Amino acid sequence: MSIANSITELIGNTPLVRLHHVTDDVRAQIAVKVEYLNPGGSSKDRIAERIITKAEEEGKLLPGGTIVEPTSGNTGVGLALVAQQHGYHMIFVVPDKVSEDKRAVLQAYGAQVVVTPTQVEPNDPRSYYSVSDRLAQEIPGAYKPNQYQNMNGPASHYHTTGPEIWDATDRRITHFVAGIGTGGTITGTGRFLKDASGASVQVIGADPQGSIYSNPSDVHQYFIEGVGEDFYPKTYDPSVVDEVVQVSDAEAFEMTRRLAREEGLLVGGSSGMAVVAALKAARMHDLGPDDLMVVLLPDSGRGYLSKIFSDSWMRSHGFGDVVERTAAPQLVQ
Ligand code: PMP
Repeated sequence: MSIANSITELIGNTPLVRLHHVTDDVRAQIAVKVEYLNPGGSSKDRIAERIITKAEEEGKLLPGGTIVEPTSGNTGVGLALVAQQHGYHMIFVVPDKVSEDKRAVLQAYGAQVVVTPTQVEPNDPRSYYSVSDRLAQEIPGAYKPNQYQNMNGPASHYHTTGPEIWDATDRRITHFVAGIGTGGTITGTGRFLKDASGASVQVIGADPQGSIYSNPSDVHQYFIEGVGEDFYPKTYDPSVVDEVVQVSDAEAFEMTRRLAREEGLLVGGSSGMAVVAALKAARMHDLGPDDLMVVLLPDSGRGYLSKIFSDSWMRSHGFGDVVERTAAPQLVQ
């Protein structure tokens, strides 16, 4: 029988699909890895699984223990899902700017959500960093995964995402493209593909305009979520990455909308960004039909319906590709 014993067994082994429509003039083959098909809806399920099982093996998590992490996004969902299945309590500390919807998702999985004020300095005792540190110290049996320092993040991608891509492409992948947040995805997957190919696979990072990875001297705010940083996390190893391609909010969001409309892929803004970076690299290096680029798409577009997929939000932020919908046809009696 082919029946999984727990939803966590369904993490990983996501499919690759070719892009045909958004590639325009690019001649290289482009395939995307669809990570929203993970049970929690993103690539972060992979790191949650390994972080929790390794913490158990190392005796950092004991039965009845509590996991405390300051996160509200995809990592939270992955941790909530795996923690629940392994029988742990889960507390997320989130700043009050995080939407009700995101809090509700974590609570739906049975997690406790502690809300902290956004308008305080990181070293203020009320900040979400301070509160999560304090809870992790005060609660007996508490464990804080700390995704920006936990090397099981990159390791999860070295042991799952990398081999999956290598096998699914019959070892023919020539370029791997991914966005950089904690850097775990690109570091782990990229390192595996370099090791497996004798360093011939080129690893390309995608980065929002305003993030440190592509331009440390021009760090500023941007709208793409889940990627880019204003510091270098321990989980990012730049030596694995051959080049970092910068993408603007406008370019990323326009592509995100095209992916839904033309390829049937309802994905998030960091996915659109990664595809734009792949196309820019393909043009820059004049890649041809023998090149096979694999682009990792981290999450689903469902979490961005009121932003990237809202015409009025796009228009009010000055972004393009707004569909001018014609008025509904009049019925002729
Ligand atoms: N896209 C989204 C939507 C994410 O949530 C993340 C994780 N922060 C990333 C991309 C980047 O992945 P990583 O942290 O492995 O670099």
